[in-house]
Amino acid sequence: MTDKRPDRFAFQQLIDKVALRLSGWKRGLISRAGRIVLASSVLSMIPIFFMSIFKLPSWVITQIDRIRRNFIWKGGMTNGSGLHLLSWDRVCLPKQCGGLGLLNIKLHNISLLLRWLWRLPPPSRNISLLHAIPRRHELVPAPWSLEDDSWFQAAQNIPLSPGIDKLVWRWTTNGKFSVASTYKQLILAGKHSFQFVNFWKLKVPPTVKLFLVLLCHGRILTQEQLLRRNINVDPQCHLCGQLVLETSNHLFVHCVFSSSLWSMLQLPGLEDLQSLFELLNALPTNVRNSTLIATAISGLWLERNSRIFRDQRRNMQAVHDWMVHEATLFMKSC
Ligand SMILES: [Zn+2]
Repeated sequence: MTDKRPDRFAFQQLIDKVALRLSGWKRGLISRAGRIVLASSVLSMIPIFFMSIFKLPSWVITQIDRIRRNFIWKGGMTNGSGLHLLSWDRVCLPKQCGGLGLLNIKLHNISLLLRWLWRLPPPSRNISLLHAIPRRHELVPAPWSLEDDSWFQAAQNIPLSPGIDKLVWRWTTNGKFSVASTYKQLILAGKHSFQFVNFWKLKVPPTVKLFLVLLCHGRILTQEQLLRRNINVDPQCHLCGQLVLETSNHLFVHCVFSSSLWSMLQLPGLEDLQSLFELLNALPTNVRNSTLIATAISGLWLERNSRIFRDQRRNMQAVHDWMVHEATLFMKSC
């Protein structure tokens, strides 16, 4: 370990390594859900060694995030046409909070560096020593320079029992520092009340889970969403044929085609899309029903796309039978 900060060339090598890793994949053949897994498991892990020792400059994080962002939404093409359907902040939120679970490099960097602070000898009761340590060792970021310094606020509230110099980390039950607990606190700062359906627990393929997350965030490219992006559309629902603006609520709930399908699946009288999500939330242990609902929602979108882009359509009974069949397969294989 060294206290010498890497030069710009060393950091550029790190970025190049991340970019090079991308070129090894046949990106056009990987689904978006697959690209998210790769971006999480490989791209995010490469800089761990650096991040454990050095504070990454913001320009390095910006470039690595740009590579990851393009890989997920555009398949790695710098000039591709893939729309960025979720904000990067949301992409980096934990899955149980409605995000895609990618590592937030900046916050993970801070979490890893704080481990060194924890490993140093316990400070005296003068908490100002905690301020001095980072600067003296130049290993951790100066906490007062952070926009969100909630982590340091917690450190300042560390309880020191009378007569016993024992440092207690308040974010773990055993009082010992852990990178995971620190990262979790940082990434969830201010978002504790955020309730979200954890689609990632459903027994359906990753592509279906990702579709549900995007749908829940209102980011599926229905005609309504295309219009918001200033893309011209001819208002029409391709499931029922009515000349109405295709919204998520119409397409998945209010449409005659969809509502008939939900009746066939013993779910009549749904109010809106939110009521479907609430059903999914209420059925975490009912694998068959939750899998069937998730499969049916994504199946309606597939049927809609099949009609628009391949000019192929199935009748209600065929769509219903196909969904039940798919859901049965998912329950066995996922
Ligand atoms: Zn319709």
